[in-house]
Amino acid sequence: MRSILPRLYLRLLLAVILPLILVTSTLWPVLYVHMETRLDGVRSEANAVLRVGEDALTRDINETLNYALAIAEMPALQQQLAAQQPPFEDSFSPDDSSRLATFLSTLMNHSPRYTKLVLIDNEGNEVLRASQGIGADPRFETLNHAHTDYFKGSSQLRSRELYISPPGRNLQYELFSGEVVPVVNVTTPVIDTDGKRQGIVLLSLNWPHLTRALHQSMQVDPEAKVLLVDAQGRWLLTQSTQQFPDIGFGGDFTKEAPEAWQLLSRQDEGYVSLDDHLLRFQSPDIRTQLYSGLAGHIFSADETLPWMLGVSFPTPSWYSLLKEETTVLWFLILIYAIAAAFGVFWAFTNHQQRKLRKNTQQQAAEVRSLYENAPCGYHSLDEDGTVIKMNQTELDWLGYNAEEVIGRLQYREVISHDTRDAFDAAFANVKKGQKDEAECTLLTHRGHARHVVIQASGYRHNGRFIYSRASVFDLTERKQLEEQLRAQAMTDPLTGVFNRRYLQSQAAIEMSRGLRHSTPLSLIAIDIDHFKRINDEYGHDTGDEVLKRFTHVMKGLLRQEDLLCRVGGEEFAILLPNTAIPQAQHIAERIRATVEHTQVSIDHETAGQTLRITASFGVTHILPHETTLKAALKRADTGLYEAKEAGRNRIVVKDN
Ligand code: GH3
Ligand code: MG
Ligand code: MG
Repeated sequence: MRSILPRLYLRLLLAVILPLILVTSTLWPVLYVHMETRLDGVRSEANAVLRVGEDALTRDINETLNYALAIAEMPALQQQLAAQQPPFEDSFSPDDSSRLATFLSTLMNHSPRYTKLVLIDNEGNEVLRASQGIGADPRFETLNHAHTDYFKGSSQLRSRELYISPPGRNLQYELFSGEVVPVVNVTTPVIDTDGKRQGIVLLSLNWPHLTRALHQSMQVDPEAKVLLVDAQGRWLLTQSTQQFPDIGFGGDFTKEAPEAWQLLSRQDEGYVSLDDHLLRFQSPDIRTQLYSGLAGHIFSADETLPWMLGVSFPTPSWYSLLKEETTVLWFLILIYAIAAAFGVFWAFTNHQQRKLRKNTQQQAAEVRSLYENAPCGYHSLDEDGTVIKMNQTELDWLGYNAEEVIGRLQYREVISHDTRDAFDAAFANVKKGQKDEAECTLLTHRGHARHVVIQASGYRHNGRFIYSRASVFDLTERKQLEEQLRAQAMTDPLTGVFNRRYLQSQAAIEMSRGLRHSTPLSLIAIDIDHFKRINDEYGHDTGDEVLKRFTHVMKGLLRQEDLLCRVGGEEFAILLPNTAIPQAQHIAERIRATVEHTQVSIDHETAGQTLRITASFGVTHILPHETTLKAALKRADTGLYEAKEAGRNRIVVKDN
């Protein structure tokens, strides 16, 4: 019981875990496909949003470039620049200059995308400036741009070629406005109709304005997170981002998120997984002709381009998937519950079945043990009388093992010849469907005989004999008991010699034999003299002892075939086959003399004491016409009586 219980728990555990594994492994591919579809959805959404962002960025930059080119081609601008250089021409009056300044300022004020527009001569001196919200300021007139990257970058540019600076701080603007406004400086040369370079136009792009527009266009989904870095990993967005909250404009993304940077910098575009987000990114190169139909080559500080634009969406989690797909969840729970319930049911029924099977096995073992070790033999025979089954008891009796007997031995072979007919007859009846029994003698492997009674019945099916079943009871003990009883019935318990009843029954046999063979048959009657005295003097036990001694002495003097019987208290008779009176007399005399001279030791207080006894004898023989012993006994008794009368310790012969 103790070993069964943990097994039940184990089965219950299995019943819960196995369905879980089974259901999960069955539904896993379905869920996986479901999840993949989700992921595909996220990918295509990210793709679409990225394209929108890229378009917005391209459009804004493109417009800026075109704007710069258009301004550079204004004749008034060329004239203004030409007027600054020798030979100074007065074709461009201060009024014209002021009109141009007003025009450009108006232009700037209506274009919030730009922070300033500056006209710079070939030496880098500022000629004209139109700033966002700020009018012409005399302080700027002294400014020289010769050392700037955009001035240097555009020094070699030809007509319609452009230079784009990397997004950077506009310190001058910040000085006045007090706010941090990063800009992207776009420059293009101003070439007059003669093809002479007059200076450059600088258009500063309000970078926060641009990135705000980028955010707006890309954040169609509130979950979407925008990323924009340059080729060096410098963070280019001015708005803070939820994903990387600690990084601001110009910050080092390679340090803020080194792992993400590693993944991103390896390829121009693609997808990467960042924690629980999926990032779609691309490197749009603003230097390509793609940006403008009018522009020639676009130059830039090489090491900062191309930028990398990306958008990330939360990766769908299993939890979110199941939370949204409640039908799937319920379906999963239902299937699992059914499977687990089935498993538990199986565990219990299996447990019960095992218990039952164990009980059945135990019972079967008990029955088998009873069958094998029964106090009687069991066997089954087929139609030919061949043994098909035999229990251990009978195998032991016969001294064979099962292999030697089953299917090999014909049972009648172990039955003695004299009892084989009885067996055959009984077996024939059993085959007919009757119960029958036979007393037989079994011959064991070692040649011993064993008396048995075989009780058998037949098993028939559809009127046909199939096999017999027999119980075999050992009669040896019974025979021995019978023998014992018979012996007891004819023996005197005190002396061990035959009794009167046996004498009479045996006398008839001996008389008929004597008659048949014409041999004489004699009879001696014996009575111990004064036996009463022995009893009186030494006690009854000593008397018994004397009786035994007396018997012993007589037996020693007789032949095998002589029949010594105790016929009364201290009276004996001897039937002597093939013995005539003279021999009988002679035998009587020998007994008388031996008894007379035998000292009988008696176990008494007076140890070592012996006593002597004598006996008287009457001898006769059976006469030819006599059919019973009665008359002979009477004659012998008469002889005995006469011997007593004559003084005892003597023999009297009575021959008729
Ligand atoms: P006798 O024959 O010489 O005339 O004298 P007796 O003393 O032998 O006379 P009797 O035949 O009358 O006595 C026989 C005695 O034997 C009587 C009885 O007490 C005794 N007796 C008979 N059977 C047994 C016995 O089984 N054991 C003993 N101890 N005594 C027995
Ligand atoms: Mg007597
Ligand atoms: Mg006597």
